[in-house]
Amino acid sequence: MTAADTHCPYCALQCAMTLTATPDGRLPVEVSGRDFPTNRGGLCKKGWTSAELLARGDRLTAPLMKQPDGSFAEASWDEVLDRIADSVLTLREKHGPDAIGVFGGGGLTNEKAYQLGKFARIALRTRLIDYNGRFCMSSAAAAANRAFGLDRGLPFPLADLDTADTVLVLGSNMGDTMPPFVQHLQGARAQGGLIVVDPRRSTTARLADDGAGMHVQPVPGTDLALLLGIAHVVIAEELYDRDYVDERTVGFAAVRRSVASWWPARTESVTGVPAETIRALAQRLAGSSSAYILTGRGVEQHVDGTDTATAAINLALLLGLVGRPGSGYGTLTGQGNGQGGREHGQKSDQLPGYRKITDPAGRAHVARVWGVDPADIPSAGVPAVQLLARCGIDGGVRMLMVHGANVVVSAPDVSQVRAALGRLDLLVVSDFFLSETAQLADIVLPVLQWAEEEGTMTNLEGRVIRRRRAATPPPGARSELWIMRELAARLGAPGTWSLDPSEVFDELARASAGGLADYSGLSHALLDSGAEAHWPYPAGSSGTPHLFRDRFAHDDGRARLVAVRSRRQETPRGSELSLITGRLLTHYQSGTQTRRVAELNDPTPRIVAQLHPVTARDRGIAAGSRIRLRNVRGVVDAEVAVTEDIRPDTVFLPFHYAGAESANLLTSAKTDPHSSMPEFKNAVVTVEAIAGA
Ligand code: SF4
Repeated sequence: MTAADTHCPYCALQCAMTLTATPDGRLPVEVSGRDFPTNRGGLCKKGWTSAELLARGDRLTAPLMKQPDGSFAEASWDEVLDRIADSVLTLREKHGPDAIGVFGGGGLTNEKAYQLGKFARIALRTRLIDYNGRFCMSSAAAAANRAFGLDRGLPFPLADLDTADTVLVLGSNMGDTMPPFVQHLQGARAQGGLIVVDPRRSTTARLADDGAGMHVQPVPGTDLALLLGIAHVVIAEELYDRDYVDERTVGFAAVRRSVASWWPARTESVTGVPAETIRALAQRLAGSSSAYILTGRGVEQHVDGTDTATAAINLALLLGLVGRPGSGYGTLTGQGNGQGGREHGQKSDQLPGYRKITDPAGRAHVARVWGVDPADIPSAGVPAVQLLARCGIDGGVRMLMVHGANVVVSAPDVSQVRAALGRLDLLVVSDFFLSETAQLADIVLPVLQWAEEEGTMTNLEGRVIRRRRAATPPPGARSELWIMRELAARLGAPGTWSLDPSEVFDELARASAGGLADYSGLSHALLDSGAEAHWPYPAGSSGTPHLFRDRFAHDDGRARLVAVRSRRQETPRGSELSLITGRLLTHYQSGTQTRRVAELNDPTPRIVAQLHPVTARDRGIAAGSRIRLRNVRGVVDAEVAVTEDIRPDTVFLPFHYAGAESANLLTSAKTDPHSSMPEFKNAVVTVEAIAGA
C-alpha cells in the first residue's frame, strides 16, 4: 500500500486526509481524516466517500466528439486538439479574438487557474474569461475590496473562532455544507452566543437551540435592512467603538446618516425580526469581548449582495472587530479553491496576484513574466452571466471552452444558458465525468481528478495547501496543463507552458510578486516542509495569518465605512412565495460528483422542496406529494417535505439537481451592479399541488 497526505476534493474547508492506495496506485482503498487546523481529523460524508470518485466506471477516459446524430464517438487527442486549434484560428480570423470565450472553475488548482488565465489572454488572445466563482462569493469580495482594500475570505485563521463568545452567522449553513467547521463554534455555543440569521431553520440554525444562541428568521431578501437596523441601534445607543472608528476608519458620518431612519420598529416592519431581537443582537455583539461576524451565500447571492456584505462589514467596523485579536469579520468561501481561483487571473478583470487588469504597472509586471508586451494582454472582459449571455449572439462568442464548471446546472436561469450554449459553433468542455454541460459539448476532453496529480489550493482562510497525487489516472485522461500546452503550441502562442505543477507554481509566484495576493515566497518545496502559508507571503516573509492588525490595505491604512441603502428586491404578491435555494449535507454544488456516489445520493436522489404546514394546508398539499413551482423563467416539479423549519412565505429547493429538477430553472440572471453576482437567493414563484401526484 502507498499513502498520500492530501486534502478533500470538495469544499473550501479543504479538510486534510490521507489516501491509501494499492501499490500500483490504481485504487485508493481508504480515506482517513488527518489532523489539520481546519478539520482536526474530522471529515464529513462527502470527504469519507471521496475516493469512490476515482474508481467510477463512468469516468471519461478518451476525448469525445459529437456526431451528426447527436451521439458521441471517441477520438484521438490529436484529432480533437487539431480541431480546437483550427476553430480558434478560423474564428479569430473571421470574427476577432473575442469570438472565443473561456469559463473556468473554482475547483481548479492554483496552477491550473493561473495557467488558464494566461492561456485565454496570450494563447487564445481573448479578453473573455470568467469563472464560476463569480456565482460564489464575488459580492463579498467586492465589499471587502471596497472596505479593506483587500479581499481574503477569512482574514484570520479559522481556529481563532474557538475562543469567541459571540459568532453572528449570516446566510451560511456550515452545519451541512462543511460539518467539521462546527467544532470551531463550540466556544460561542457554550457562551450562548451563536446567532444564525437564515429564513430557514437549517442544521446550523438548530445549533443555536437550547441556550446555545439565537436563530433569527428574516423575510428573504431583507438581510441588508436587518444589518442597517442593528447598526442603527449600535450608533443610537452609543455601543460603537469610538476610538477604533476615529483612528482606523473613514466614512462614519455618512454611515450614521444612512442608518438613522432604521429604528428597530421600522426594521421589524421590513424584516419581520422583532425590534427587541434587533436590540438584543446589537447589545450582544457590542458587549462581547470576542465577537465575529461571518457572511455566506445566503446574504451575498443577491442583486444587492455587495451592499449587504458591506453592511455586515460596516457593523464589524463600528464595533471595532476587524483586526482586533480575538474578533473579526469574514466571508465563508464555498468552492474548494474559490479563494485561489480568483487570485490568479480567471476573473475577467484581474491578473495574477489579484491585480487589476487596468493597472499599467501590474500589466507590465505580468507581461514580463509571460514574455509578452503589456499591450498583448487584452483588456477586461465581462463577468460570467454576461459571458454566457453572449454565446451565439451576433457579434458575440462563437466558441466556448469550459473547465471545471457545470453551467447548465449551476448558472442562474439555466434554460437561457442551455439555449445560449446551443447557439455556439463549438462548445469544448473539460471534465472527468460527462456532466450535463459536457453532454451538450461538441468536444469533451477527459481530464485528471484531484488525487491524480500534484497541485495547490488556497482554502477559506487564505492558507495555501498541497494536493498530492495518490492514484494513477486512466491512460486516456490528461491534465489541463498538458491540454493548454498542446493548444498553445498549435496556436503558436508565446511564453512557456510547463507540465510540471511545481514549475507552474513558481511562475505563478513570480507573477504574483508585489500584488495583493503575493505568493512570491512560496513554492511546492516550502509547502511540503509543512510551512503554514497564509498569503500575502512575499519572498523573505513567513506569511500573514492575520490581516488588518495594524492597517488596512488602502493607501492611508484606514478601512472605509460605506453608506449603503436597502432596496427591496422582487417580492411575492398575492399567493406567491419567495424561493430560496441551498445545499444539502450529502451533495456538493451541481452534484456532478456527489450524485455519482451511492452513499451520498441514495438518501436524496431527487429534488425535495420544503414548505411550511400552513402554506401546504392552504394549497391542499400533502406531505410527500408532488408540487409544481413556477415563474416566468421556468417550472420545477418536486416532492414536498412539510416542515416548520421554513417561513410560511418561503419555499426552499436544493440546487444540486439537473434537467427538469434544476432549481436554477427558476432563479434570475439579474446581477449585482458592483460584483455581477446573480440573484440566486430570492426568486418569486407560485406553488401548486400536482393533481393525482
Ligand atoms: Fe470535504 Fe468540505 Fe466535507 Fe471537509 S467539510 S470533508 S472539505 S466536503
